[in-house]
Amino acid sequence: MMIKKKIPYGRQHITDEDILAVTETLQSDYLTQGPKVLEFEKAFAEYIGCKYAVALANGTAALHLCAIALNVKKGDRVIVPPITFAASANCIRYCDGEVIFSDIDPDSYTLDYDKVKALLEKHPKGYFKGMVPVDFAGYAVDLEKFKKLADEYGMWIIEDACHAPGGYFTDSKGVKQNCGNGNFADLAIFSFHPVKHIACGEGGMITTNNKALYDRLMILRTHGITKDPGLMKENHGGWYMEMIELGYNYRLTDMQAALGISQLKRADPGMKRRHEIVDKYNLAFKDQPKIKMPHVPASVFHGHHLYVIQVENRKALYDHLLTRDIIPQIHYIPTHLMPYYKSFGWKEGDFPVAEAYYQKCLSLPLFPSLTDEEQNYVIETILDFLK
Ligand SMILES: *Cc1c(COP(=O)(O)O)cnc(C)c1O
Repeated sequence: MMIKKKIPYGRQHITDEDILAVTETLQSDYLTQGPKVLEFEKAFAEYIGCKYAVALANGTAALHLCAIALNVKKGDRVIVPPITFAASANCIRYCDGEVIFSDIDPDSYTLDYDKVKALLEKHPKGYFKGMVPVDFAGYAVDLEKFKKLADEYGMWIIEDACHAPGGYFTDSKGVKQNCGNGNFADLAIFSFHPVKHIACGEGGMITTNNKALYDRLMILRTHGITKDPGLMKENHGGWYMEMIELGYNYRLTDMQAALGISQLKRADPGMKRRHEIVDKYNLAFKDQPKIKMPHVPASVFHGHHLYVIQVENRKALYDHLLTRDIIPQIHYIPTHLMPYYKSFGWKEGDFPVAEAYYQKCLSLPLFPSLTDEEQNYVIETILDFLK
């Protein structure tokens, strides 16, 4: 079969409406943060089902501000899974905190609850300050369970929900809990990098139900500057403002927000299409003993950012696909084995589940604009390899 262009594991989808939304903003009074950012925050908070949303320059900036807002300081220990994008851990290092990795569950590929519990039980209360569960690939972590544990040990939770806008789990009372809805995590973060569900180019969001954290994040986003008379020591007139703590310029632009708003309108059909594509892969591979498919229990509505299979001869399959114009990806090389984190003493053998997973994992093309023809080609190419 002939395919027109290379098929990556993820790709943005830009429509005429998206382009119109951006060009309209280009002709408006605001290019940097303005009314579109506020509109995007409101629409996103509504979509996720949380009280507050803070738009930011990217997901990493969002993580950084979360760590500052939760007062991460030198030596503070924070639990992070090794299978995630390095930024989930790096935000703790930006504040000079200590990253403590804990292994993943072999089926969900997210933080193993029992291992976290065992780790906490080995130390006095207060030994760990927080944890960063990651809704890996779109798998909604059962944060109700983690929240109970966090409360018992006086810890906060940052949910890295970059992979899971629109995903949810069903809690012990049968209630659907959207990823990032702020009912269990103190703060949650999202990214609008083009491979994620919603593309802004660069872009990020923090969601929360905590008003005090929200207020502080709004100040941190703009250099630590406030114009709120209630927060200022003095007031010299209409121009007056005070910088009350060390903040950053982590703002999103109105052009990016306009794109985000337009993309968010297609979130539901986009999710539906992601599920269709996943169902088709699952059907195609169900009789292939060499392929381990994603495991999704009934309590989880998967966000399906990534379709990750595990396969014995992964490198050969990766190369096979690459030479046939399919560009799969590996999510992720374990973070604890990055040279930077190895310099803190982490090493091979520390997390056997994550390391075994890494040997076999492969992310296949999954994005709403993937055509049936393209997906058929991907499936045929894989089945051909397995013969
Ligand atoms: C993409 C991603 C980030 C970082 O987001 P950026 O917008 O690229 O800075 C953080 N964590 C996870 C799990 C991600 O996938």
